[in-house]
Order: sequence, then C-alpha cells, then structure tokens
Amino acid sequence: MTEDNSLEKTRPFYRRVILKLSGESLAHSGERGISMDEVTAIARQIKNAHDLGCQVAVVVGGGNILRGAQFKGSSGEMIQEATAHYMGMLATVINALALQDALEAIGVTTRVMSAIKMDGVAEPFIRRRAIRHLEKRRIVILAAGTGAPFVTTDTCAANRGLELDADIVLKATRVDGVYSDDPEKNPHAVLYRELDYDTVIEKNLKVMDSTAIAQCRTHKLPILVFNFKKEGNIVKAVSGQKVGTRISPRNESGERILVDAN
Ligand code: UDP
Repeated sequence: MTEDNSLEKTRPFYRRVILKLSGESLAHSGERGISMDEVTAIARQIKNAHDLGCQVAVVVGGGNILRGAQFKGSSGEMIQEATAHYMGMLATVINALALQDALEAIGVTTRVMSAIKMDGVAEPFIRRRAIRHLEKRRIVILAAGTGAPFVTTDTCAANRGLELDADIVLKATRVDGVYSDDPEKNPHAVLYRELDYDTVIEKNLKVMDSTAIAQCRTHKLPILVFNFKKEGNIVKAVSGQKVGTRISPRNESGERILVDAN
C-alpha cells in the first residue's frame, strides 16, 4: 500500500461531516431503483471514512425512485405538487433503510432518523439526539429530507449541516467536481478546484440547489463537491486531501475565488 492510500496514516481533517448522497448513487448508472452492489460499495467507502474517527451523518436523496417536481409533471396533473414532494421524501426513506442494512452488514452501528414521523422504521429526527448518536460513533442516516415539500435533499444537507454543527457538506456526485459547463455534454468544460459562493451563484454553476447554496453562504458552511465513484475519494474528502471542488467564503481581503484544476 502506498503512503497516500494508507488508512493507518490518514487522519480525519474534519471532526463532523454531512455526506449528501443522491438517490442515483444507489442505482446502477443510468438505471432506477436500488442496486445493492452500488449500496454496498458506497457503504464500504463510508465505513473507511468513519473508521478514521470522523463523525458522519448521511443525507440520502430519492431521485433513483421519485423526484417530486418530475413526477408531478408526468402524472398528467393528477398528483398535486405537494403530494409528489411527499412521495419523494418517502423514497429517501426506502434508500436510507437499504444503506442502513448495508452499513450494519459490515459492522457499523447506525441510526436512521426521519423528518417524517415513522415510528416502525426510524427514529424521529431530533437534533440533540442526532448529535448524541454521532458522539457515540454511530453513523446517522437522515431520511425524509427536511420533512417539508418544495425543496430537495440538498437543502436538507445544508440545514442539517448547520443544525448538527458539521464542519463541511460533502456532496458526492458522479463527476469530478464543479465545472464551467456540463462535462457530460461539453468536452471543453473546465473543472474548478476552488470557488466562492458568490461566483457559484453568479455563474449559475451546478453545485446544489440555490436554497442550499444561499444557506451555506449565509452561515459560511463550506461545501466539497467530489466524485464518489473513484474508490477512496470519501476518505480523501474527510481527511482534507485534494479532491473535487471546494466552495467557501471569499478570502479575507474579499477577493473572489475561482481556481481551475490545471
Ligand atoms: N423532497 C422534499 N423535501 C425535502 C427533501 C426532498 O420535498 O426536504 C422531495 C423532492 O420532491 C425531491 C425528492 O424528495 O425531488 C427526492 O429528493 P432529491 O431530489 O433531493 O433526491 P436526489 O436528487 O438527491 O436523489
């Protein structure tokens, strides 16, 4: 094992993180539903990061099953938009339960906490109890988003990041970070290494939904967007190694931050 990849020599840089996983990360590429191969692969990476000593709360999305805005559109207006969003939140609970069993199968103690009361399968989300679980070295899986319709789990990740006093929001994606354009459509898209919130908002860069970015900006909560498909990247992210794109406030002299990867 090279020094870079050695878990024993890697130390967590962050004490507590929110890891935002989209629902798509739990499915085979381009497919819907849940693939336990994908869930197990990501569970192993999360365990490795947790084993370093970092407290990890995971916000899971539901896009592999249902996204409210899309589903409402495809229902021939039969489903009210609020109902569709509640359906999306319930989808995140299904994903949370799959991730929970995958983590427990490899020896990690977890708790699923749901923002929608669901006593039979999950604890209710209670901020102080969630913090206690994290301190006791349990991975907390946050299900049902914020519990309120018309937002996404990105906003939930930002909210919970603030509530749980996380050091950073780690947004796991299928691409290497934030680009000037969609890298899957434009081969000339530039990958950024560092950005400030204002630049992200002004350039309308695709990072997280705008409510989430605005909230992180107001409260100076950094975001790291990185590719979870590359083995070892979650460990790199929690141990502060160079990976993905980091979004933070402007520097002390108020200058913009826009650093590309080259
Ligand atoms: N959702 C919601 N409120 C929340 C979080 C999620 O209404 O606080 C709904 C919303 O319809 C969203 C869906 O749940 O589209 C699934 O979440 P998301 O789209 O964030 O999943 P991801 O894209 O991360 O897989």
